[in-house]
Amino acid sequence: MNHEQSRSLYDRALSVLPGGVNSSVRAIRPYPFFIEKGDGGHVIDADGNKYLDFVMGYGPLLLGHDMPEEVQSAVQQRASEGPMYGAPTEVEVELAEFVARHVPSVEMIRFVNSGTEATVSAVRLARGYTGRDKIVVMESGYHGAQESTLVEGEGSETQPSSPGIPDSFAEHTITVPFNDEEAIHDVFDAHGEEIAAVLTEPILGNYGIVHPVEGYHETLRELTDDHGALLIFDEVITGFRVGGLQCAQGKFGVTPDITTFGKIVGGGFPVGAIGGRADIVKEFTPAGEVFQSGTFSGHPVTMAAGLETLRYAAKNDVYDHVNALGEQLRSGLTDIVADQAPEYTVAGTDSMFKILFTREGPDEMTDHCEAGCRQRASCSRHDHCPKRGADVMDGETERWERLFWPAMKEQGIFLTANQYESQFICDAHTAEDIEQALEAYKEAL
Ligand SMILES: *Cc1c(COP(=O)(O)O)cnc(C)c1O
Repeated sequence: MNHEQSRSLYDRALSVLPGGVNSSVRAIRPYPFFIEKGDGGHVIDADGNKYLDFVMGYGPLLLGHDMPEEVQSAVQQRASEGPMYGAPTEVEVELAEFVARHVPSVEMIRFVNSGTEATVSAVRLARGYTGRDKIVVMESGYHGAQESTLVEGEGSETQPSSPGIPDSFAEHTITVPFNDEEAIHDVFDAHGEEIAAVLTEPILGNYGIVHPVEGYHETLRELTDDHGALLIFDEVITGFRVGGLQCAQGKFGVTPDITTFGKIVGGGFPVGAIGGRADIVKEFTPAGEVFQSGTFSGHPVTMAAGLETLRYAAKNDVYDHVNALGEQLRSGLTDIVADQAPEYTVAGTDSMFKILFTREGPDEMTDHCEAGCRQRASCSRHDHCPKRGADVMDGETERWERLFWPAMKEQGIFLTANQYESQFICDAHTAEDIEQALEAYKEAL
């Protein structure tokens, strides 16, 4: 593969953009390929190389790169009528109604411009509503580039995980390992009356893909209820991907008080949202006292793209299609792993997937999860599959990044460039694409 154009573009980029990129995960080594354009389930780079794309914008592109006619015309019409106004538009109400109709926890919603902005506002809302300061997050959960959740350390012994964040932010943030019932009980025993909210992704999607163990979300729901704290599901990745239009909360049957959205709900344009019980969300200004505002919030082009994308998914068999391909891919990967790398773990559900380069596997493959880890206690892999972010980190992350990713790229398969980020199937992918991907995995593993 020739990468001359990408190389020289990155050379220019390094002079004017820190690290040559506008979001850190894009700085693939030694240099990223620059995208010229998308094409259905593929992308084409600046040198004309074509890749089967499983990055899908890191999650937003449920339908792939080609907007269906309805989405395209709605976007073009909104843009041609003047991109935005600083006054409300009907399409904001329509998208809010759509989300409230389908997502169990959402009675009211505030649209913002990124997932980060959504989680920042959700944390502020929870603190304002409860009058408490502490929040509990999962070790190695990800909630965007925000001060309160960029923490490292365990329990109450947390520090900011980035320079530039005062220690006083981390003082209010407690971490627990995902899936650890005992740890969350201990935290509520010690701090129950000070906790404003527990904030978690329903499935960890930024640190491998880690599925909840049975009963974990129910425990979070009970503990928060018992102590007057709120449960916030960060569904920025899982929203309108896992569980279809009802999102992961519908699939798992656990209803949080507040849900954050991003990614798919904007149909590929910048978006975030905070939805939840009306009495809570009404605390946002101007209805309530918790300040929240944004020049671009509820942007008409984004709202139109999000609404038409979700309507398209509702009217067509989008979720059936992407989830069936997900099953096909994950079960194919499970067979390949059993054969070639029995220590590795296949993870994911619905249209999310990843192979985690765990270091140890079972001696015998009996009764293991067939199409992605479900944390089943009876699974032969159960003792070895990651249950929390730290378990993913203990894997062969260097091998993933330096050997495996480039070997897939050389075969024309574009995966997220590290062991941690989820990969996605879109509506434009086909069963043949999945077969091609499986052949590439066979070569590269
Ligand atoms: C992507 C993501 C965010 C951050 O969203 P941005 O739009 O990148 O700011 C927050 N939470 C989760 C779970 C995410 O996956």
